[in-house]
Amino acid sequence: MTKVVIIGGGWAGCAAAISAKKAGAEVTLIERTDLLIGLGNVGGIMRNNGRYTATEENIALGAPELFDVTDSCARHKNIEFPGHKHATLYDVTQVEPTVRRLLKDKGINILFESRAIDIIKEDKKIKGIVLSDKSVIYGDVFIETTGSTGPMGNCLKYGNGCSMCILRCPSFGPRISISKRAGVEDILGKRGDESYGAFSGSCKLNKDSLSAEIVEKLNKEGVAVLRIPEEDINLGKLDIKVCQQYALKEFAENIVLLDTGHAKLMAPFYPLEKLRKIKGLENARYEDPYAGGKANSVRYLSIAPRNNSMKVRGVDNLLCAGEKSGLFVGHTEAIATGTLAGHNSVRLSLGVPLLELPRNLAIGDIIAFANEQIITEEGLKKRYTFAGSEFFQRMKSTGLYITDKEEIKRKISRVNLLGIYNEKLI
Ligand SMILES: Cc1cc2nc3c(=O)[nH]c(=O)nc-3n(C[C@H](O)[C@H](O)[C@H](O)COP(=O)(O)OP(=O)(O)OC[C@H]3O[C@@H](n4cnc5c(N)ncnc54)[C@H](O)[C@@H]3O)c2cc1C
Repeated sequence: MTKVVIIGGGWAGCAAAISAKKAGAEVTLIERTDLLIGLGNVGGIMRNNGRYTATEENIALGAPELFDVTDSCARHKNIEFPGHKHATLYDVTQVEPTVRRLLKDKGINILFESRAIDIIKEDKKIKGIVLSDKSVIYGDVFIETTGSTGPMGNCLKYGNGCSMCILRCPSFGPRISISKRAGVEDILGKRGDESYGAFSGSCKLNKDSLSAEIVEKLNKEGVAVLRIPEEDINLGKLDIKVCQQYALKEFAENIVLLDTGHAKLMAPFYPLEKLRKIKGLENARYEDPYAGGKANSVRYLSIAPRNNSMKVRGVDNLLCAGEKSGLFVGHTEAIATGTLAGHNSVRLSLGVPLLELPRNLAIGDIIAFANEQIITEEGLKKRYTFAGSEFFQRMKSTGLYITDKEEIKRKISRVNLLGIYNEKLI
């Protein structure tokens, strides 16, 4: 039986594990921490803007599992906040154990607290992954879903220092680039001012530290918009964000809080003294990152060159997905690319043509579009998400943005791809 080894248990790795398993492989998922879903543990926003379309496309293609989880763990459905429509907010305190049970029930072998540090390679083929305890996990096909952050040193070099975020590098060790170990140079995303990487775009406040009035509003409506005092408005700060879909004036003039179990503050970081000037936030304190008053993690420092079937160029048996596979932002983007990579890992092992999704689907188009853009100087400064900025505009202008589930199903049926991810290939 084909053995698929996935390195990195974020949303992309979990999605790849499920689709590779469904296609008939024996699957091992290697995760350096004690939690699955990676950055998804501090996220929560789903189905906003074009992510709705992408979610329904992935479901119609035959991979509903992870979206069923996020929908079932939703605290709020169909809400609006500045620039964003029909969003679902999942509860970050509930999702991870649910995903963990799902993967275990499917028979996926998960190795926690197992950090990949190197590879064993013969010619252009990876044979095995070396873990920090020096044991080796051998496989036929490998999928890298290690995200795009670097080791903690990158947050010191390109950010404001280690902010003590969900990645927990001091405890679980640094991320490494598997593709680079295999001899393929990483691509680095840039900011407008040519510096490398980008700050993660949101922090979480502990809800118990907010006023009763704000907590009630969050619990009831999912959103609270609080005006920032005139002297503290800083429009320049929008440029440093990863999440260009939230780089709108409204986010510079207001504190936008979303209820994801914690209160998600839509800014990379915000000085505590200034935050506490705002009514209802007098006692506010950060939950993630702990040093959210000063810094956040820095991402997009390690992207692998790939084709549109998610295969890494220059290595015969390595695929990639999620942030590692492009300047993608988002859980939905990670799940959609991860699902395709998992399915294609089995095709690759069988020597049959890999699946490439057509560009009249939002998922197919973002995969191809991000690939075209990443080779340009300007494209390196952009981020690609169904939820906003350039790609959502593109979805709207090309008719890819559809919110009618039946229409999406019909579209996928017309290209003969309905339920393709359910096909057992072995
Ligand atoms: C603070 C914050 C809030 C966000 N909010 C949202 C949101 O609300 N909605 C949304 O859609 N997106 C959000 N995002 C973006 C989104 O979370 C990411 O784009 C997406 O989850 C990336 O998934 P991934 O699987 O590619 O990478 P990651 O989530 O980074 O997962 C990579 C995994 O690989 C593991 N790993 C790394 N190196 C190794 C190694 N050497 N050996 C073994 N394992 C390794 C890591 O521990 C991690 O679990 C947010 C991001 C941040 C930082």
